[in-house]
Amino acid sequence: MSSLWEAVDAAFQRLESRPDFEPRPVQRQMAQFVCEQLERGQSAMVEAPTGVGKSLAALLPAIAYSLQHRKRVVISTYTAMLAEQYWRKDLPLALSLFPTAPEVALAMGRSRYACADIIRGNKASRVRPELANSLQQWVSVAQEGVESELHEFLRRRGVPERFMRGLWEHIAVPSACRARLCPYYPTCFYYQARERARRAGIVITNHAFVLADAMVRQATDGAASLLDDYDYLILDEAHDFLDAAASALEFDLDSKFIERLIAHAVNLSNQVGDVLTGENPPLGLIQSVQQLVAGFAGRVRDAYEQMAFPGDLPKEGVATRVAPETLAQMRPLHGAFRPDLHEQVSHTAAAIRKEIGDLYRELSQTLKDFKGQLTDAQHDAVRELLLQFRGEFVMAYEHLGRLAEPAEGVSWVEPDAPRWKACYEPLALGEWLHTRLWSDRPALLMSATLTIDGRFDFFAGQLGFEAHATLQLPYVFDYRRQCALYLPRVGAIPPPPPHARAPGADAYYQRLADEIGALIRLTHGRALVLFASVAEMRAVRERIQLDGVRILMQGDGSVADLARQFREEVHSVLFGVRSFWTGFDAPGETLVNLILTRIPFEVPTTPLQRARQAWFEAQALDPFRAWTLPMVKQQMRQGFGRLIRRADDWGIAAILDPRTRTKAYGREILNNLPQGVRIFDALPALADWLRPYTDSP
Ligand code: SF4
Repeated sequence: MSSLWEAVDAAFQRLESRPDFEPRPVQRQMAQFVCEQLERGQSAMVEAPTGVGKSLAALLPAIAYSLQHRKRVVISTYTAMLAEQYWRKDLPLALSLFPTAPEVALAMGRSRYACADIIRGNKASRVRPELANSLQQWVSVAQEGVESELHEFLRRRGVPERFMRGLWEHIAVPSACRARLCPYYPTCFYYQARERARRAGIVITNHAFVLADAMVRQATDGAASLLDDYDYLILDEAHDFLDAAASALEFDLDSKFIERLIAHAVNLSNQVGDVLTGENPPLGLIQSVQQLVAGFAGRVRDAYEQMAFPGDLPKEGVATRVAPETLAQMRPLHGAFRPDLHEQVSHTAAAIRKEIGDLYRELSQTLKDFKGQLTDAQHDAVRELLLQFRGEFVMAYEHLGRLAEPAEGVSWVEPDAPRWKACYEPLALGEWLHTRLWSDRPALLMSATLTIDGRFDFFAGQLGFEAHATLQLPYVFDYRRQCALYLPRVGAIPPPPPHARAPGADAYYQRLADEIGALIRLTHGRALVLFASVAEMRAVRERIQLDGVRILMQGDGSVADLARQFREEVHSVLFGVRSFWTGFDAPGETLVNLILTRIPFEVPTTPLQRARQAWFEAQALDPFRAWTLPMVKQQMRQGFGRLIRRADDWGIAAILDPRTRTKAYGREILNNLPQGVRIFDALPALADWLRPYTDSP
């Protein structure tokens, strides 16, 4: 027995001696596998279905490894919310099973922490006055200073949910601040977290932060980083890492980007004014900075507003540049590629890049010019602000560069009323991830759905990840007993239309709404309805009538707030799109009815999808089989996984897309779900299956 496994085994024994704990052999099996990978320093992939307890099976070996070998392990999950869950729930339990603990840290982007200076100084003018006292009290007791901690605190004090909406953006750490010169710096949530993350043996974070760290290293040739050196990376919800990586590298040059850029510069100018107040403020410097920023804002806005394209472009836009260039010759881009429009894009991107560079140079020069009129402290404060400003703007500069001249990927333009937006997205992330992440250190990728058709190849290939070992654990729950699957008879629901205005769409939505309504009545609410698009969700919502059942709909509040209401109001129904297909957890009575309205194929006519098809065809691959179908199989597995979250959960899953019965790929999709589940094709028989559950007191 290795000494690492000995330590983990001892931790399991302590856990198993606790009352109410049921030993899970697969959890131990997974932990043993993770120990082996850590000891060998090798990369691996694990599929651990819901119920295995994979967080603990990864945390225990990671803690033991950090303690025994003095190594640093970064554990990342998809969202900040999930990372906070790790931090509050899983990590404390794991640490309590060891006699000694390594240093631990929660590390996320700056906007995930509250700024004590804003709260204590009452600087958030748009915060409701009745919250001011609570905020002051919270800031003096908060441990991490993160949003979920604040919400919990306010809820305990009976603050209504609607007061919390939009609050965070007024008190979050700004994009630039006085940092070391701030009076609250020694206890600042954000800088303390950064500092702890540099030293900690175990760092909990989210995928966006891991990727931001990789991008900072790339932009600075390794001179700077957010996470410092670490020895092993564990990615939970690894199936979402593709999406996270695409989001980190994609870019939209639109009015939101322009306003964010300007707001950032204005924030810098305000901060300069702030740090220079006091006796004999150097007004000349403050005014010069304000003028430079005002000029920058005007010119950047002009540059963006001058970007214009022909009014007859299709709604989904057209590709203007592809890399490699040979993709332009491929069939999917025929008639949807307008390289003549790219000059506008590159011209605008170049103009904004120039403005960014000029502003930084001019601000630095202005600081030099006024140096003689500043105290050392004032000079250092402004220089610190400029340094932070530089970091943020380097990222914008790089994004604009990729949009104008992609080394790999597609740039396109699309209408964005009342103007336009120019976008960039990479087509293949494997090489970038291999160079920027996997080649630096070993990693373990884990998820409940990391295989397609029983194999790890798809995600390994797309992520450019080389696994030296893989482990696929069996299902823990008894799906045959705990759930039933409803697939309506062929003809009961028409095939889904390609879009909301297509012929037959109205009849389809009405039929879909009727079926969803009937299903919801069977379980008196308690249903999660997952749609493939917002348009479809709204169309069904307009047509559905449910007396006495509250329907919560994505978009009517924050995802976290809707999720909480759905869990608390047992008989409510939740209509959701993408964010609820994956990672959403509602165990128990509140979710006994899962409805997947259609197979969530991506719209095939967007410039991105066309370029992606071209990319696969250029490699003599069928885009449908190489990309579209595996992605859909994975999403259907994730969606289906929302139903049974615990050993005592039960319920029905309905897939209302007739293509699961009529198409060959429909059978393949079903083969990726738990096997042996009883299938019904009519509601009365389904109601009979449900009766023992719904009739019980
Ligand atoms: S150091 Fe910056 S983020 Fe921290 S409290 Fe001060 S101003 Fe806010």
